[in-house]
Amino acid sequence: MSARALSLNDASRELLRAIRASGISPQDCYQCGRCSSGCPIQPHFDLKTMAVVKLAALGVERPLMRSRAIWLCAGCETCTTRCPNDIDIAGLMDLLREYSLRRGYRPAEPRIAAFHRTYLDVIRHWGRVFEVELFAVYKLRSRDFLGDLGMGMKMFMQGKLGLRPHRIRDRSAIRLIYRQARAAREAHGGAGGDEPGGGRGDVAGARGPHDGRRGAGGDGAGGDGATGRGEAGQA
Ligand code: SF4
Ligand code: SF4
Repeated sequence: MSARALSLNDASRELLRAIRASGISPQDCYQCGRCSSGCPIQPHFDLKTMAVVKLAALGVERPLMRSRAIWLCAGCETCTTRCPNDIDIAGLMDLLREYSLRRGYRPAEPRIAAFHRTYLDVIRHWGRVFEVELFAVYKLRSRDFLGDLGMGMKMFMQGKLGLRPHRIRDRSAIRLIYRQARAAREAHGGAGGDEPGGGRGDVAGARGPHDGRRGAGGDGAGGDGATGRGEAGQA
């Protein structure tokens, strides 16, 4: 975080409102640091978990929305379990990701956002993961054509990547979940789209005119897809 002192003007009422509506209470944090010290991904974060909680308590939007930490968080809930004040920190990370998409910020980790969105698309199609589609669509969206190729080949050779999808019997239940998620999102002011958490758009190609935020001319006014956690499954 920049050394610039934060002022009350940095507070976003909208972010504070969204956090309040979620029932998560970062204001209870007394900065003991247990969440940060237990987080397995902390070394890769640009903001410590405890800093994310503090900034969220103050409603300081921009550093949070620009942070890689909210996207790198794996939702493992170690921090939530360790917090002596029962703050749902993993849930807060989830909320911040969704908020950033809804507000049109370009994800600091666009490939992770692309993965979340692709995962939810695949679940919507089949009711369960179809790795080949997941892999192919993710590659196209992220434009990361070579990454993990070796691992993909290895999985294929070991018969872990089926070439045909296994769909669940009652896909109407899945469609209902997505419809309800969409209705909930729209009720909270999110834009339309047919997957939980966001509209259509190419995460990797998202570009905004200023500050990393996507503008009206971007490719998805309402975000690029949900974070998997807590909606249609864990990404
Ligand atoms: S563990 Fe809980 S109280 Fe301690 S710093 Fe983290 S969020 Fe704050
Ligand atoms: S949920 Fe996220 S922030 Fe919390 S310990 Fe796991 S990876 Fe770290």
